[in-house]
Amino acid sequence: MEIKKVLLTGDRPTGKLHLGHFVGSLKNRVAMQEEYESYFLLADLHVLMTKREKSDILHMRELCREMVLDYLACGIDPKKSTIYLQSACPAVYQMNLIFEMLISLNRLTGLPSLKEMARNAHIPEESVPFGLVGYPVLQSADILMPKAHVVPVGKDNEAHLEIARLIARRFNQLYGDVFPLPEVVIGEVPTLIGTDGQGKMSKSAGNCIYLCDDAATVSKKVKQMYTDPKRVHAGIPADPEGNPVFIYHDVFNPNKEEVEDLKSRYRLGKVGDVEVKDKLASALNAFLAPMREKRAQFAMDKGYVEEVIYEGTLRMIKKSNETVEEMTSAMGLSGNWKKISRVARERCSS
Ligand code: ATP
Ligand code: MG
Repeated sequence: MEIKKVLLTGDRPTGKLHLGHFVGSLKNRVAMQEEYESYFLLADLHVLMTKREKSDILHMRELCREMVLDYLACGIDPKKSTIYLQSACPAVYQMNLIFEMLISLNRLTGLPSLKEMARNAHIPEESVPFGLVGYPVLQSADILMPKAHVVPVGKDNEAHLEIARLIARRFNQLYGDVFPLPEVVIGEVPTLIGTDGQGKMSKSAGNCIYLCDDAATVSKKVKQMYTDPKRVHAGIPADPEGNPVFIYHDVFNPNKEEVEDLKSRYRLGKVGDVEVKDKLASALNAFLAPMREKRAQFAMDKGYVEEVIYEGTLRMIKKSNETVEEMTSAMGLSGNWKKISRVARERCSS
């Protein structure tokens, strides 16, 4: 049997998925799931770094469900890929602790993403939790649990992948070759700008078009999109470069002739924002329509999403326990650990 290379990536269950997720990561996942043994994690433990209220934790059940519906709507196939719940895998807690020993605090506190995450979650510098600093370590445990070779993510996650590589390299140097060095696979649009034109499309910034938005919502959001503020009427020639409406046209409108025509008339001051936006809304709605339809079908299938998560998580628990065994054996810990845990398991089950 052909041995496939392993792919892992995932998302924090903090809301529904948006166009940025699609071009940054989901599109690659769907394309690569044939060729790679693929794992997609519902990263609920990562959410605890910024949200810890019990009501938030309970709400994640619903958010996970929505996210899995988005996966299925995009074409992730649970027969080919494993979708699993991070917090239900004991191995991730074990690996996280061991990996914490293999990376310096300096390396983690120097990551610009740490400051950004703290700022987004309104956490003052002096109150940053230890776990938030360790975010990339936990992410490394996720990635190395199934020994992933590739990790398709958006550009904002590239530096975290470097931490996973450092940890894998350090582990292999100390204890022998256990882990592959995971490679990052950046999407065709490394960072999709938000509808406000201010920064990346991000759930927490409220500048998203969601994959499950209905046609009227998409049209409304497109109408309100940020364009060139200097262009106060349609007769002013302007540059389409960098304008988020044209960026979306380039990414999502398959009618390249129409896009070129709009751009050249825009440069000459011969097209209004209304026409450019109407055509974008049509293109986006045509792009999203099949996903909406599939999503609705899966949503009607009662218990299906739960079954997908349950089956996937069982698969990952088995896979990751094997990695922990191999890891602790390589470290020389298993002499102490394996026997005690085996005896404990036997006693508990008798
Ligand atoms: P939050 O605001 O909660 O951080 P988010 O919208 O930034 O949410 P994440 O869960 O952080 O989404 O990201 C999940 C995956 O999608 C990551 O691989 C990330 O790099 C990618 N991604 C997120 N937003 C974008 C974007 N605007 N463009 C490209 N890739 C993105
Ligand atoms: Mg993010």
